[in-house]
Amino acid sequence: MPSSSGQTFENRNPANTDDLIGVFQQSAAADVDAAIAAAAAAYEEWRLVPAPIRAEMLFRAAQIFAARKEEFARDMTREMGKVLSETRGDVQEAIDMTFYMAGEGRRMFGQTVPSELRNKFAMSVRQPLGVCAIITPWNFPMAIPSWKIVPALVCGNTVVFKPSSNTPLSAVNFVKVLIEAGIPRGVVNMVTGDADVGTAMTTDPRVDVVSFTGSTAVGRIVNQAAAPTFKKVHLEMGGKNVVMIMDDADLELAVDGCLWGGFGTTGQRCTAASRVVVHEKVYRTFVDAFVARAKALVVGDGLDPAVEMGPSISETQLQTVMRYVTIGEAEGARLVTGGRRLTDGGCARGFFHQPTIFADVDRRMRIAREEIFGPVVSILPCRSLEDAIAIGNGVDYGLSASIYTQDINRAFRAMRDLYTGIFYVNAPTIGAEVHLPFGGTKHTGNGHREAGVAALDVFSEWKSIYIDFSGRLQRAQIDVEQL
Ligand code: NAD
Repeated sequence: MPSSSGQTFENRNPANTDDLIGVFQQSAAADVDAAIAAAAAAYEEWRLVPAPIRAEMLFRAAQIFAARKEEFARDMTREMGKVLSETRGDVQEAIDMTFYMAGEGRRMFGQTVPSELRNKFAMSVRQPLGVCAIITPWNFPMAIPSWKIVPALVCGNTVVFKPSSNTPLSAVNFVKVLIEAGIPRGVVNMVTGDADVGTAMTTDPRVDVVSFTGSTAVGRIVNQAAAPTFKKVHLEMGGKNVVMIMDDADLELAVDGCLWGGFGTTGQRCTAASRVVVHEKVYRTFVDAFVARAKALVVGDGLDPAVEMGPSISETQLQTVMRYVTIGEAEGARLVTGGRRLTDGGCARGFFHQPTIFADVDRRMRIAREEIFGPVVSILPCRSLEDAIAIGNGVDYGLSASIYTQDINRAFRAMRDLYTGIFYVNAPTIGAEVHLPFGGTKHTGNGHREAGVAALDVFSEWKSIYIDFSGRLQRAQIDVEQL
């Protein structure tokens, strides 16, 4: 539908800015207003559709996603740059989540518990909340919208969805599938735009839930904007994740993991392994092996099957990466590979940067504490497990952490002591599956989780119900029988 202002914006390929992917509608305040009004009106009917029937529509949507996986993956690589195997994974995550949540339509368990009084029944049920404002980033253009929209729908809510302006095509592909699967008019509404459109959503009194994934800086603004109207606010924000490599680790496995964790999605994952803490006994061996592998990574257009790492999403993001390289050098870290923008040959028209590694990084340096969101990994030496854990926990973020060790005692201690929402043993910091909770602590999240059954807790609230079939007044806590 055309925007009320008639304004549009261009979507270009970050691997080749000559490639215009499309021209999209730019929503204005009036469009946000209309979308919220449609969602509020549709809610009154949608909440009463039985959850198993809502779920059947979602099941059909999952089947359509699966049938169009390749087409959607190619669109996604073109619009945000990550390599095709990864965009296939992104679509697969949406498929997995949608099938999983379709199953929840026939579960959505509440509790039945005994009453303390005779002839009285007690139970709790999940209830939808109303209109959900869904605001998403560009790095998982289908997976993240699915983590939010699908559980919101199965619980009986309606949705106003604003994707990142960097990835409108994948968002349109996603919403079209829901409509084709039979989700009724008004239940899912999409708007486009940036901070002004987001603010219109987070401040509107008709919106009941805000589910936001993005940077910590914007998450803070969203939280404040939604506070006066007491919305339920679910925030998934930045990360500075750590891989800890002990002196007994399988180093080849650790190098594989750090390469995937550090440079997968060009380092543009909230769970990216941007810090690698290595025991001093294996430090030199690890650094040499890791650097050799990073140097050999093939950088280019993600549609080329030989390419292993694509571009940054935008010139702005690339400039951030380059700024942090300068910061790292000025702080005295040792640049052991990379550090430059790539501008030759197939990289000339895109936002490409070399895979970059800093060694001998000190925990106090900014490159060891701040999220860069690019292909830059910092390696820090450590003396012991305790030292590694202290470094791991010594940042404001708390999303994901991992340890490489053969010692089960060390693995369990690290698992217990790392204050993150996700932890891996002998695997990198990325690799979440849809049926477990996903999210972080500290400045990464505000206590909610998405994925798994935990997602239902964001998009529903509990109602406790007591049914007294004694035929007389029974007072809780007072008329309890004495034995
Ligand atoms: P961003 O914070 O710039 O934008 C996120 C979304 O918020 C976009 O849709 C944007 O248009 C919108 N927005 C911007 N200003 C707004 C405002 N004032 N009010 C409401 N909405 C507003 O983030 P990004 O660059 O799109 O994504 C990268 C960030 O996302 C990184 O920090 C990354 O760690 C984080 N991320 C976190 C997770 C997680 O699950 N924890 C997952 C993926 C990405």
